Amino acid sequence: MSEKTVYDELGVPSVINASGTKTRIGGSRIRPEAVEAMGRAATEFVRLSDLQAKASERIATVTGSQAGYVTCGADAGLLLAAAATLAGDDPAAMDQLPDTDGIPDEIIMPRTHRTGYDHAFRGAGATIVDVGTNDRVLGTGSTAVEPWEIERAITEQTAAIGYVQKPYTEPALSTVTDIASAYDVPVIVDAAAELPPTENLSRFIEDGADLVVFSGGKAIRGPQTTGIVAGRRDLVESIALQHLDMHAAGEVWQPPAALVDIDRFDGVPRQGIGRPLKVGKEELVGLLVALESFLEDDHDAAHDRWRRDAERIVSALESVHGVDPTLDGGGDVSVAPAVAVHVDTAVAACSATELVRTLRAESPRVFVGADRLDEDVVTINPMCLEESELDHVIERVSSHLTTSQE
Ligand SMILES: *Cc1c(COP(=O)(O)O)cnc(C)c1O
Repeated sequence: MSEKTVYDELGVPSVINASGTKTRIGGSRIRPEAVEAMGRAATEFVRLSDLQAKASERIATVTGSQAGYVTCGADAGLLLAAAATLAGDDPAAMDQLPDTDGIPDEIIMPRTHRTGYDHAFRGAGATIVDVGTNDRVLGTGSTAVEPWEIERAITEQTAAIGYVQKPYTEPALSTVTDIASAYDVPVIVDAAAELPPTENLSRFIEDGADLVVFSGGKAIRGPQTTGIVAGRRDLVESIALQHLDMHAAGEVWQPPAALVDIDRFDGVPRQGIGRPLKVGKEELVGLLVALESFLEDDHDAAHDRWRRDAERIVSALESVHGVDPTLDGGGDVSVAPAVAVHVDTAVAACSATELVRTLRAESPRVFVGADRLDEDVVTINPMCLEESELDHVIERVSSHLTTSQE
């Protein structure tokens, strides 16, 4: 923490991340071995389709899917997945996107699965049809979506079903894939942040998903601008054709057979809708190296360490007047145990909101979780904190909560 960072050199404020793997402050710490491999990748040439074919093979093995692809983030993976379900193996449809005239273009989503990230589906040209209600928050006990609502929404215009995987999402993925497969409709699963546990790499494929998307820049700790798509070979092939550079004369168009079966196509498709989402050889290599390390990680030990850190934060803040810190075991929205710090504004020296604002404005900036400010709660997530940073965060948080703000 005391060493000069590259951000210091640029005159840009450094950040201490006590909020978990948040993209806006840089996601996660990339693994050193991934950085080293990226450096080596940067100085040589390689055909990107060969590298994607190798990645496909490796992703297929670790996820139990037929094929895989590396994208420039999970959200880019969602856009490419949508493009694959819209265009399939039709080069004319690929060329037409995001215009979907004459192409079935509806992606059905349970309303409670809608997030800002589903803009990616619309970016490919899809129209989102959301079903279900939000009645749950009224305390009626009714479900957010009934399986029949999803089934009834399937029409000739349906291209796919979109599903966001979180421990609290309903209905169960297998319920949705059962319905979808009866109508031959593919299911796209956004599981961007659902790692660890490692078993989740294969779990959603086992549950019948056609395409699953993970972020490479969260717990995998690969390059920030990477994501993984795993799933059906024909859909991954469509992704490759809509993403790879397609400036090629037909006679010399020789993509790797493991990725693209050219016999299925009349000719070379044009540059596709995914082309602006390019992935560099450096990122591809970095992701592959990071994925291997992720598989070897002792996730139980990491979890124990985060838990110990979280307990330390709780005991340090317990004595602060008007502050009630509680341990949240992880597994709800976060994969790591975190501390929910409830601030009684009438007693503590500042409110939860003031605390967040002040911490972010100081030097270095300290980011704590601000997702529960409406409940007067800030969260402290130890996942991205180093030992010395943990002490700094505890010291800054208790200092603000005990010293009245001017
Ligand atoms: C983080 C996240 C994304 C986006 O992942 P990127 O790799 O940053 O593109 C999408 N969906 C969900 C649910 C996420 O948590």
